[in-house]
Amino acid sequence: MTFSNTPAALTTLRDQRQRPLRDLRISITDRCNFRCSYCMPKSVFDKDYVYLPQTSLLSFEEITRLAKIFVAQGVQKIRLTGGEPLLRKNIEVLIAMLAKIKTLDGKPLDITLTTNGSLLKKKSQSLVDAGLARVTVSLDGIDDAVFKRMNDVEFPVQDVLDGIAAAKAAGLGIHSPIKVNMVVKRGTNDDQILPMARHFKGSGVVLRFIEYMDVGSTNGWDMREVMPSKEVVTHIHSEMPLVQLNPTILGETAERWGYADGSGEIGVISSVTQAFCADCNRARLSTEGQLYLCLFATQGHDLRGLLRNGSSDEAISTAVQNIWQGRSDNYSELRASGLAPKTINIKRVEMSYIGG
Ligand code: SAM
Ligand code: SF4
Ligand code: SF4
Repeated sequence: MTFSNTPAALTTLRDQRQRPLRDLRISITDRCNFRCSYCMPKSVFDKDYVYLPQTSLLSFEEITRLAKIFVAQGVQKIRLTGGEPLLRKNIEVLIAMLAKIKTLDGKPLDITLTTNGSLLKKKSQSLVDAGLARVTVSLDGIDDAVFKRMNDVEFPVQDVLDGIAAAKAAGLGIHSPIKVNMVVKRGTNDDQILPMARHFKGSGVVLRFIEYMDVGSTNGWDMREVMPSKEVVTHIHSEMPLVQLNPTILGETAERWGYADGSGEIGVISSVTQAFCADCNRARLSTEGQLYLCLFATQGHDLRGLLRNGSSDEAISTAVQNIWQGRSDNYSELRASGLAPKTINIKRVEMSYIGG
């Protein structure tokens, strides 16, 4: 097994479990045009829901300033997310600003985006022109009726497929394959596993199946609705034989499986049944500049306050170092061992606020 990205210069900052900081996920809006029941259920995110005011959001200048500070601490990859990131006005301007940043070892920063794909058809070319090199599209079914039920706003599957085709045509799959993420909810869309695998097999797109997670406090999560990745792999293998592949980089969340006939690969992300906390090198920056050290955190660290009170880059950098050095989060490991803190009455942060 070879891990490609650990030059000595990048390995200094470590958390309490000796994990480096390599990946920063930035939520650039808390709004979305979908109402996926596992993320922004209509019952909660209705017409009376109060979203963040524009002044609360980090500006592009603030995001870029923080990005530079994080990159100086060893971050090599930035993922823009949300909410639906393509709803943020002029996102291309932000991408162009981030694309100028170089990593500590002088390489271009790896910038990617997770999107529901609804605006990809319209925006792929301008995103590429701004400097975006790759994209992950979420798609929870290939059958139109199932997909509409999943997004809960009657959004047609064909429009997302057109978006993926546009992303491909614009070159978003050249440096790294376009990824499609499907959250599997047992009894809701597990009948889409095989049709999705059939559809994307041989297309160059890497389909990844994600276990439905107990993130946030609004989705009414129930372990009985989680389909373990093992089952997903067995299911696909019975029709389309698979062989396991080596991970490409340390901290990779997806387990890779290749089609035995050489027609591409799939991935499974076992966030519930196989905790990957031991290698978790991700930090998350919320839409309003709170730094979260874990998807399941209940509290963030306010970086916007520092940005807006005149703190120097050095002071913010020191704060980030101290926060990361104090990190010991391992929620999924605790959940797996039955020791997860009882956060049932504590308002956990929503996925749409800190991003996936
Ligand atoms: N709106 C964009 C999208 O859907 O791709 C980006 C934000 S969304 C919060 C990021 C990812 O989180 C998506 O792939 C989504 O499917 C995933 N996600 C949201 N809630 C989840 C849950 N409860 N369990 C597993 N994945 C979830
Ligand atoms: Fe929106 Fe993405 Fe959440 Fe679905 S998963 S509601 S598309 S933010
Ligand atoms: Fe990382 Fe937290 Fe997920 Fe563990 S539970 S892998 S620490 S985000």
